[in-house]
Amino acid sequence: MSGLEDHLRRRIDADGPMSLASFMEEALGNPDFGYYMSGDPFGRSGDFITAPEISQMFGELIGLWFAVVWRSLGSPDPVNLIELGPGRGTLMADMLRTAKTMPEFRSALRVHMVETSPALAASQRKSLKKTGVEVHWHDAFERVPEGPFLLMANEFFDALPIRQFIRAGDGWRERVVKWDLGKGGFCFGVSPSLDPAPPLSRDLLSAPVGAVVEISPAAGEIAGSIGRRVAKDGGAALIIDYGHPVSAAGETLQAVKGHAYHDVLSDPGQADLTAHVDFSALARAAMAAGARAHGPVTQGDFLESLGISARAGALLGTASAAQAEDIKSAHKRLVDKGEMGALFKVLALSSDVAPPPGFE
Ligand code: SAH
Repeated sequence: MSGLEDHLRRRIDADGPMSLASFMEEALGNPDFGYYMSGDPFGRSGDFITAPEISQMFGELIGLWFAVVWRSLGSPDPVNLIELGPGRGTLMADMLRTAKTMPEFRSALRVHMVETSPALAASQRKSLKKTGVEVHWHDAFERVPEGPFLLMANEFFDALPIRQFIRAGDGWRERVVKWDLGKGGFCFGVSPSLDPAPPLSRDLLSAPVGAVVEISPAAGEIAGSIGRRVAKDGGAALIIDYGHPVSAAGETLQAVKGHAYHDVLSDPGQADLTAHVDFSALARAAMAAGARAHGPVTQGDFLESLGISARAGALLGTASAAQAEDIKSAHKRLVDKGEMGALFKVLALSSDVAPPPGFE
């Protein structure tokens, strides 16, 4: 039995079945055994590959997007450039390289990384060393200094813990995680008593009997904090993730290990656990706090409107035959509807009424 399995089993023995959110929080963030805490899960040899790891074009176009948005905000100087869950730091490095071509923008930037994993923070430090830019790390968005800001979050919200509720004939029950003695492993169960007032939006409360619905309280809280800062200090946030534009019933929690799907309750801490992002819940939380929300639009449409085809064309002009194959396949992977282009959505939060580029 792994260290984390043992720890979780003891918690269940002592306190009874645990909520799915607690299970996910431990599986991903336990300081000793959590999935993100020790290793580097990204890339071809890791468990999954994200857009900035697929191609430099992703970070370059987003860097340009932020430069345009910064101007429309009145070119605040200084401005905090914040990234939530920056992984290996590749996206930030690509954005900063692009910013070099706009000296006024680049000199205004103060870079703040929000990361809970010491291993990944070390990896980010390495990626950003060559940029020569001063970078600050924080373990929560709330700790980033106040002031006008530009915020990026790519595949961050899908890693936040979720709760699942099941619509039974007589009301709502929360799904919990138990230890199955016979099987010698974790299994799902439901809370014995009905939840008289589950914290679900109207769209979800109308789900039919038998439906499973998911909410992420942590995601809602962070979107609310971003919205409050946007309203108070001025700024813009770009949130990219896989998920649905409108809150809807359905079970999307999944585990991935070595580029293959894995049982969600097996091997906690050794597989990536994610759930689809409910973009309408994020937008609602941010708007309730005073921000404007734009989108979501699909990643494919967003990158095309930012000129990814032209950028790929320019890179192809100086590429070797092998590089050309990589550029073409990366372009397709990022925008094709059958790949990341349609499943991934882009939401912008802003203090500006006018829609930013890609959302007009
Ligand atoms: N944005 C990166 C990595 C996505 S993976 C990319 O596109 O490649 C999720 C990232 O979020 C990891 O860096 C992980 O350590 C971090 N993370 C997960 N939960 C977090 C939390 N609650 N606060 C801050 N960072 C978190």
